[in-house]
Amino acid sequence: MPIGAMLRAVGESLAETLWPTRCVGCDQPGELLCDECRASLPWIEQRLACPVCGAPFGFLTCTECDGTWPVRATVAALGFHGAPARMVTCLKDAHELRLAPVMAAAMLTALEEASAWTAADGRPRFDARSVDGVCFVPATAAAYARRGFDHMELVARGLCAASGLPLADVLVRRPARDQRDLGREGRAENLAGTMRATEDLSGASLLLLDDVATTGSSLAEAARALRSRGAASVTACVLARVW
Ligand SMILES: [Zn+2]
Ligand SMILES: [Zn+2]
Repeated sequence: MPIGAMLRAVGESLAETLWPTRCVGCDQPGELLCDECRASLPWIEQRLACPVCGAPFGFLTCTECDGTWPVRATVAALGFHGAPARMVTCLKDAHELRLAPVMAAAMLTALEEASAWTAADGRPRFDARSVDGVCFVPATAAAYARRGFDHMELVARGLCAASGLPLADVLVRRPARDQRDLGREGRAENLAGTMRATEDLSGASLLLLDDVATTGSSLAEAARALRSRGAASVTACVLARVW
């Protein structure tokens, strides 16, 4: 199925099989994401986006990243306001797990569009043929315990099921030490070691998923963990970009 049609198909199949359902964007009963809200999603136009950090108007000059952005390219599907913001909250905190494949479809749509545009290294921002595995920024232990699931794992599984790309569930988090007795540098260091990769990733090209990118600090920590086990290339895709 063409990826562009997937959002619609997902919404329709959910509307047929599940009831009652309310739209995550406008709360109207019927569908998880109604026609109107689907049509007015704040898509980021990939042609105009920053190839590095995914900010929506940074193609020529980006004011949102400064050369230290931690991945080779970032594809952000949507702005973080309106329906996308509520999607993330509903999935994480209202346990509306049916939103995971909807978010995955939105991310795949953006990845497909981004494959037509080059990253800073001159290669396409996304090329499915060069992806060895799809990984995701893992939930903190506390969030996992509270929710009982890792929402980005669900999104990653949805994205892999829809695209045929292989899942690489390789990142784990350790709890950060209590920050209170640490100074400024100690805190940065403490957080800096919170993720690790559980497998040898020598030479691998990875697609790293997260829900929202703001400063890039979670992507940075995940990318560091992946590279420390040998990953050769990390490309990020997020549902939404805050700028
Ligand atoms: Zn709606
Ligand atoms: Zn940028």
